[in-house]
Amino acid sequence: MQGRPVADAIWADVERRAAVLRDGGSPALTLAIVEAADDPASAAYLRQIQRLFERHGLLTARHKPAEPTQTALNSLLERLSGDAAVHGILLTQPLPAGLNLEAALRHLSPEKDVEGVHPWNAGSLAQGRPKLVPSTPLAGMEILAANGVELRGKHAVVVGRSPIVGRPLIQLLLLADATVTICHTRTVDLPSVTRQADVLLLAAGRADLIDGTMVRPGAVVVDFGINVLGDKLVGDAAFDSVCDVAGSITPVPGGVGPVTNAVLARNLVQLAELAAGG
Ligand code: NAD
Repeated sequence: MQGRPVADAIWADVERRAAVLRDGGSPALTLAIVEAADDPASAAYLRQIQRLFERHGLLTARHKPAEPTQTALNSLLERLSGDAAVHGILLTQPLPAGLNLEAALRHLSPEKDVEGVHPWNAGSLAQGRPKLVPSTPLAGMEILAANGVELRGKHAVVVGRSPIVGRPLIQLLLLADATVTICHTRTVDLPSVTRQADVLLLAAGRADLIDGTMVRPGAVVVDFGINVLGDKLVGDAAFDSVCDVAGSITPVPGGVGPVTNAVLARNLVQLAELAAGG
């Protein structure tokens, strides 16, 4: 299951909706990126996001707190939250040691929370009333939908319970009427659980965690993992081994990644539409 065609369709939707907003007099759609930490890997990812957004007519601006303190981070988030020219705010994670995410999020408006990390957005999703949903799990759902994978009544097994991928993914799968099991580092006998999955969703961030012996024949596998192995990027599935058994699988790279970027842009449009009263 390739990500590119799914991403292309979402970008087309983004461009169409952005044009409607522009014609209605909205200011140019702008994503503010807040970098609290100096992290070269995340800087490379952010440059990629900026290039992509700009190619599709969306503006981005990178911001750093005036100093590496909680107060400076909080006041930056507060200022951007109150800026009518900013439609969405992306706070890069993890925060540097000594800075507290929960405290920072109190200063981020949920109406500018492009990654759905604010407790109001996360709580709405947990209660089954999604508003702004984190882009990575939503991208996985988009790939499943685009490939006609029926989730109702199916057993979906998620490996990973982070707030940004695994946990919101559970809620989305429940909304799609799947029966959901979640696995994590304390799960006993992971293979016996993953082998029960009709749909297996991998978000552990461990290269080669899952091989073909851990997959039910014909299962659908969505691999969110991004791991550096030697000079290659790989997912959590040992791709060749899982391919021999699974019915379908997303590749890494080229699977969830491009769709995540497109969904992030669509989240920005969604926030701008809400701000414009749409
Ligand atoms: P994280 O480290 O915050 O969480 C990993 C989760 O996996 C934890 O809940 C942990 O309990 C579980 N886990 C780890 N090792 C395990 C094991 N051996 N057995 C069972 N469970 C295990 O990571 P994250 O931020 O959720 O990211 C997960 C992966 O997804 C990473 O590879 C990350 O790079 C990738 N990711 C991809 C995208 C994308 O756009 N495709 C976006 C965000 C994250």
